[in-house]
Amino acid sequence: MTRPLVIAIDGPAGSGKSTVAQKLAERLGLTYVDSGATYRAAALKALESGIRSDDEKSVIEVIASADIQFSTDGSRARVLLDGRDVSRQIRTPEVTFAAAKVSRLPEVREKLIALQRSFARGRGVVMEGRDIGTVVFPDSPLKIFLRADPEERARRRLNQEKQEGREATLEQTAYEIGRRDQLDAERKISPLTPAPDACTIDSSRLTADQVVERILEIAGERKLLSAGN
Ligand code: C5P
Repeated sequence: MTRPLVIAIDGPAGSGKSTVAQKLAERLGLTYVDSGATYRAAALKALESGIRSDDEKSVIEVIASADIQFSTDGSRARVLLDGRDVSRQIRTPEVTFAAAKVSRLPEVREKLIALQRSFARGRGVVMEGRDIGTVVFPDSPLKIFLRADPEERARRRLNQEKQEGREATLEQTAYEIGRRDQLDAERKISPLTPAPDACTIDSSRLTADQVVERILEIAGERKLLSAGN
């Protein structure tokens, strides 16, 4: 029996990962999974428990005790924290920054990577994140690393913030993205970096649909779409 297709999409904030991964999953009838949502749910748990972020031991303990799960309707996976749908609560700037901090802790990564892998067992997925091609699914036959110019990424993130009803300026957003890039790229474990066999696509001057077409072309060249995908 052929294994279900796992497509890994990695890249920094604002590189277009989410839009591209969702569209691609839809085109291929695979389940879209946002791995960042698991780090955000873990961060929300730590924030809600009121412990100080520099008290790493307590942060690790409280996250270890959290019940973080995926629920799915088949087309996309949602993250549940202790049985609650926290899709909205995990999008605040406070959680965004806290997620980048808790994701540096090996114990937290271990727990969440196990969850991401077990969700994809026996299921075709397009999973987006920072380390999907390098660590979570190093055997994935299709790894994409998306990049984009910092100004373009800040503009996209600002649009997203506005759509979600938050006030922000381009300067603030650019600063926030830069700070997160630094945390993600400099951390000791699973720093943001392309897998050696990843295809890097610069999305600065491409629409999301153009990026999706390019990925489908690569999948076609590798004959990944013939087995019912
Ligand atoms: O993708 P998103 O911006 O929602 O991710 C939030 C944070 O979670 C990132 O800044 C990063 O620190 C962390 N993350 C990670 N590994 C992933 C996905 C997200 O470390 N696979």
